[in-house]
Amino acid sequence: MGPSQSAAFCLQCGAVLELRHLFGRSRPACTRCDFIAFEATPTAAGAVVVRGREVLLIQRRIDPGRGRWGFPAGFQDYGETPEDSARREVREETGLEVRIERLLAVELSRDNPRKLVNLVIYLAREVAGELRAADDALQARFFPLEALPEELAFDNNRRLLQQLRDEFPSGDIS
Ligand SMILES: [Zn+2]
Repeated sequence: MGPSQSAAFCLQCGAVLELRHLFGRSRPACTRCDFIAFEATPTAAGAVVVRGREVLLIQRRIDPGRGRWGFPAGFQDYGETPEDSARREVREETGLEVRIERLLAVELSRDNPRKLVNLVIYLAREVAGELRAADDALQARFFPLEALPEELAFDNNRRLLQQLRDEFPSGDIS
């Protein structure tokens, strides 16, 4: 099932939690009130920003994958749509405003060793802004599909880039 985060105390009343078999599996439940700690899988969203036959990658400043290259992506804030999150992450990490063109992938990602994540990746195109690495990015650069950096951060990035190469053996990516 993957790594799990378990709280020790009740978020409602502060009493100790204990594991109980509830709704089909073992879950932390309060020993005093009716609180059950349902564990949700967080969502992260990001974008493959394309320019002709090039894709935008950032060099990650933080773990997982520190120093390696990957798509701008990050956790969805409460109240955001996945598209909002993807646009915001691209803006924060690269300075570019983008338009979402289409959905590329939705998957349960195991690339972060600390937690499972629902990952939503879009294909996007720049509409404004100036390329400049910031926030969690050390560098932000467009790379030709045929000349990607060796040090990619995640399996899903590698897979998606291969998928784009297969889908668009020549010409612009769209
Ligand atoms: Zn409680």
